[in-house]
Parts: sequence; C-alpha cells; structure tokens
Amino acid sequence: MTATVIDGKAFAAKVRGQVAEGVKALKAEHAITPGLAVVLVGEDPASQVYVRSKGKMTVEVGMTSIEHKLDVDTSEADLLALIDQLNNDPAVHGILVQLPLPDHLDSDLVINSIDPAKDVDGFHISNVGLLGTGQKSMVPCTPLGSLMMLRDHHGSLSGMNAVVIGRSNIVGKPMAQLLLGDSCTVTIAHSRTKDLAAVVRQADIVVAAVGRPQMVPGDWIKSGATVIDVGINRIEKPEGGTRLVGDVDYESCAAVAGAITPVPGGVGPMTIACLLANTLTACCRANDLPEPDGLTA
Ligand code: NAP
Repeated sequence: MTATVIDGKAFAAKVRGQVAEGVKALKAEHAITPGLAVVLVGEDPASQVYVRSKGKMTVEVGMTSIEHKLDVDTSEADLLALIDQLNNDPAVHGILVQLPLPDHLDSDLVINSIDPAKDVDGFHISNVGLLGTGQKSMVPCTPLGSLMMLRDHHGSLSGMNAVVIGRSNIVGKPMAQLLLGDSCTVTIAHSRTKDLAAVVRQADIVVAAVGRPQMVPGDWIKSGATVIDVGINRIEKPEGGTRLVGDVDYESCAAVAGAITPVPGGVGPMTIACLLANTLTACCRANDLPEPDGLTA
C-alpha cells in the first residue's frame, strides 16, 4: 500500500481562507475586526520566527495584529500587568504568550492570568478542564489542526483505535481528549510504555508527538492506518546542512499506512491556521455572534 499524503499546507490555506471570509463578514455586517495580541519575551531566534509569521498571517486574513516584544529580563509583575491590560482591551480577542518563557518567569502563572475567553492557545487551566469534560472551550492549535485533518480524511472517527505517542500538555493530552470526544478508543503512550511497537500496531490512527527524529518505523504501523506526524526535528544531512524530519520514519511508514502527514507540510502549517481560527471563534463568542462552522472541535 502507498499512503495518501495528507497535504497540511493546502488544508491550512483552506482554513485561512475560511477565516478570512469570516473576518470579512464580521467587518461588513458588524463593524468588528478581530484582534490577536502576541507577547514575546526575550530574543529566542525560533520564537522570533514564529511570532513574525503569526503576525504576517494574522494581517493576511484581515485581523489586527498586536505585537508586544519585551526584554528578556522583564519582571513577572510587568508581564502580568501587560496581560491584564490586554485582557481588558475590547479590541483584543485573542492573546498568545510565546513559549518558552525565560526561566525567571512562571509559565503556568502567566498562562493562567490570561482571560480564558481570550486564551487562543487553549493552555489556560479552565480551557483544559472544559475540554476534558467535553464542554465548549478554546482548543490547543496543534491538536485541533490534527483533528481537522483526521475528520476531513475519515469523516467519522467513531470506534477507531487511536494511539497518541506523547503526553505533553500542549499536544499529547489535548489530542487524546479530542479523539475521545470523537468516540475513538484512545491509548496514550509515553517514555515508560512497555512494548510500544505492539501498542502502536493496534492503532487505526497513530499520532506521534514525541520530539525524537524518525522514531516510529514502518513495521510498527498497521496496514492502512492513518499516521499524523506532529514532530518537527532538525537533523544533519549526510551531504552537509540540515533538514526537517518528523517523529516517524516517513518512507517506511508511507509504504504501509493508508494516509500520512509529511514533515514539513503536514501538521505544522495547520497550527497557525488554527490559531487564527481560534481568534475568530473567540471574537464571535465575545460578541454573542454565531461561531463559524468547522473551525473548532
Ligand atoms: P514534549 O513535551 O517533549 O513531550 C514529548 C513526549 O514524548 C513526552 O510525553 C515523552 O514521554 C514522550 N516520549 C519521549 N521519548 C519517548 C519514547 N522513547 N517513547 C515513547 N514516548 C516518548 O514534546 P511536545 O511539546 O509534545 O512536542 C512533541 C513534538 O511535536 C516535538 O517534535 C515538537 O517540536 C513537535 N511540535 C510540533 C508542533 C507543530 O506545530 N507541528 C507544535 C508543538 C510541538 P514522558 O512524558 O514519559 O517523558
């Protein structure tokens, strides 16, 4: 079997197009422009790249992009004061604090100081609890993007066996909650899982969110399974230079899977698209307007 390649880049462009349509309608019918505020503390080069591309795409879908770049030694009190100001600003519908934060700042405290209704990353403890209890919440972007691609490919996920490899708060756990919400039978695997290969072989859906380059080989994959590769790892090329790879060994997995997301061009582009989708959703909720279809879980 040769797997169908799930084109996350094209899917993300479609989602951004839907978001842009929603923004246009909000402006035309209600004179509301959704606003996304991104807070970056320090000068981590990867974070700077992410923040730049988030800002660019926010503007491209017609939203207002607000960027706050703070010194690496910004105090917790000053950061919390800024978040308080954004929480109370009616022009701001989504707030994202770029992680990781410098060591002297308490990430949990900072994230939990964001108004849950504006928490477009879905990391606030209230949103985690709402998602876990099947209530309306803001859903973390990477798992949401992965779920959208799975729903698009399969239609219903009901009754499927799903194995999520990784139990982080930002990917593995919310991914498992979303799959459970869609009536999959879900197993969460992690570094202490015994005989991971045998666990993964049971899966109709495998979501790999490990952070270990090409860790999952094709002979762990059940014939015809769908593989969602969340991993983004940079490895050295034999001829020099580097390239991006996922957490699964793409060639061998694509030879047995029914469908697979590539790296790059799979889950990655969906993350920012879902951030914009969440901002639009948050804006509609804040204004008691109907939410756009298909842009949240
Ligand atoms: P993380 O916080 O480091 O969590 C990794 C998880 O993998 C942990 O639960 C860990 O288990 C588990 N793990 C580690 N080694 C393992 C092994 N040998 N066997 C089984 N499980 C193992 O990572 P993360 O933040 O979830 O990110 C995971 C990957 O996704 C990374 O490559 C990251 O770059 C990527 N990512 C991509 C996007 C995107 O937009 N596409 C967004 C976020 C993250 P323990 O809990 O037992 O330690």
